[in-house]
Amino acid sequence: MKKISLVVPVFYEEDCILQFIAEVKAAFAGLNGQYQYEFVFIDDGSKDRTTSLIKEEAAKDQQIKLVEFSYNHGKQWAVSAGIKYATGDYMIYMDPDLQDPPEEIHRFIEEIEKGYDLVFGIRREKKDSFINIMFSKIFWWVLEKFTGLKIPKGLAVMRIFNRKFADKFLAYPEQNRFIEGMFMHVGLKQTTIEITQRARFAGVSKFNFRRKMKLAFDAIFDFSELPLKQTVKFGFFMMFMAFLSLLTIVVLRLFFIDFQIGWPSIIITIIGATGILLYFMGVIAIYIGRIYKEVKGRPLFSIKELTNIHE
Ligand code: UDP
Ligand code: MG
Repeated sequence: MKKISLVVPVFYEEDCILQFIAEVKAAFAGLNGQYQYEFVFIDDGSKDRTTSLIKEEAAKDQQIKLVEFSYNHGKQWAVSAGIKYATGDYMIYMDPDLQDPPEEIHRFIEEIEKGYDLVFGIRREKKDSFINIMFSKIFWWVLEKFTGLKIPKGLAVMRIFNRKFADKFLAYPEQNRFIEGMFMHVGLKQTTIEITQRARFAGVSKFNFRRKMKLAFDAIFDFSELPLKQTVKFGFFMMFMAFLSLLTIVVLRLFFIDFQIGWPSIIITIIGATGILLYFMGVIAIYIGRIYKEVKGRPLFSIKELTNIHE
């Protein structure tokens, strides 16, 4: 019998977690025992009752497993850890806030059984605030422009993939982990299905504007060399402009008007040129910082405790 792992990052989800477990169990009950399944929860450093609630459930059910990070690493690392510890033939990655509906699980399974390596959920409509929807539209648009990745529109978190896909994903050693980009980069045989999302069951979204900006920033700098290339282009452009200005001034002075070249232009040039230099040095510094992080090659995450997982 095939086994399905539910890979679920949790961070302050005490209000959702029991409902989530109950709904997933109900969804599998609907499949009449055709599949075995396990939960692999990864706690990303919650300090509320999230982990104690999961542990209570884990004491009753060996198939509820928990990986506890020793502090908050970020969702990308939580997902990576979950995939590492999942033992299923298929893995479903979803959030516990029930925005991704467990009643769709059987459709994901049916689809991947047709021979795909990865099936992405695409949301029919996004149940979210106007601002969030706009932000995510702009985010994906900019991302595609910068990285050239063809990421399906309206991507939901919920997706299913097989062991082959998971192994390839785990072979990516990078410290800076932009999950969507990595999924597209692994590639293999992918397809999408449409799902209807619900509103968050309880609690609040942890991705405020600042965290979303950070995600966008990570995505661009991890998957694109465009900002670096722009540096060169812009440098050339500025040199060309300077040359043109010089030529204009010389020609004007020699043949047309006898003017005193003023100090304001010099000040402006100095400030402008310094600004441009600092900006592009900053771009390069960001990449160097990322290279530094990769070169150190630290473990991706620090695990405090494992429950129902025997290494
Ligand atoms: N999450 C996490 N680490 C974090 C922030 C969030 O593991 O630092 C998890 C959180 O528990 C949830 C998922 O990531 O399962 C998505 O977060 P949320 O629902 O708050 O974001 P949204 O759905 O609004 O994008
Ligand atoms: Mg959510």
